[in-house]
Amino acid sequence: MRLGRSKAHKTEIQILLEMNFQAKWPGERGLLPVRLLKEYAYCPRYAYFQVFLARSYVTCSMRAALEVEDPLARLDPDSWRVERGVYVASRRLGLHGFVDALLVRGRLVKVVEAKALTRVSSRALRGRLRHVMAQAGAYGMCAEESLGLTLTGVVIVGSNGVVEEKVTPAHRRYVESLARGLWRMVIREEDPGPRPRRECGYCVYGDVCRAVGLRPSSGLGWLARLHASSSSS
Ligand code: SF4
Repeated sequence: MRLGRSKAHKTEIQILLEMNFQAKWPGERGLLPVRLLKEYAYCPRYAYFQVFLARSYVTCSMRAALEVEDPLARLDPDSWRVERGVYVASRRLGLHGFVDALLVRGRLVKVVEAKALTRVSSRALRGRLRHVMAQAGAYGMCAEESLGLTLTGVVIVGSNGVVEEKVTPAHRRYVESLARGLWRMVIREEDPGPRPRRECGYCVYGDVCRAVGLRPSSGLGWLARLHASSSSS
């Protein structure tokens, strides 16, 4: 069975709802978006700026992906039931979000992540796309906790095809350590420092990152300096 061509899986509103965590912060511990965990896995300082600067929640590439008619069209769920746009949450990890789709069979579940504009492969998911695996694994662990299902794997639907991966105990530990690191960063307001890479040239926080510098900084003093310099210029 192949999926029909319904409209995009996740709306811009859902993304904004996910990212609307600052209203709860500081104060009572809320839940952070799984999307933020993905960004933390990609570059911790990027996630740091997302929390404390929040320049743009919905990036150009996210908008372009939302324009794709049906990012899950390549998915062949076989005998699994497809549930799209499901809200999942984990108190243990302190994370929540809307997963693109779940494949459910009995008490088993697989997480489906759509990366409509990205070429995916098993090798890439262990290297340059490790943050995508982290995101999918985190959604899966949230689904286990909030829906009482057992996670068996993740399915990434890319521009070139579909890749399915098992979720190993080592991957679960990786997600848990990312969640701990993310929460520590948020609670302590600790700048984790930059993780320079070729893509820094396209980073929405590139100018801020250069201004803050190469060394990790503690506290939010840089934010006041940044504000002072922008209002005096
Ligand atoms: S410019 Fe590079 S190091 Fe700085 S926040 Fe962006 S991705 Fe991270």
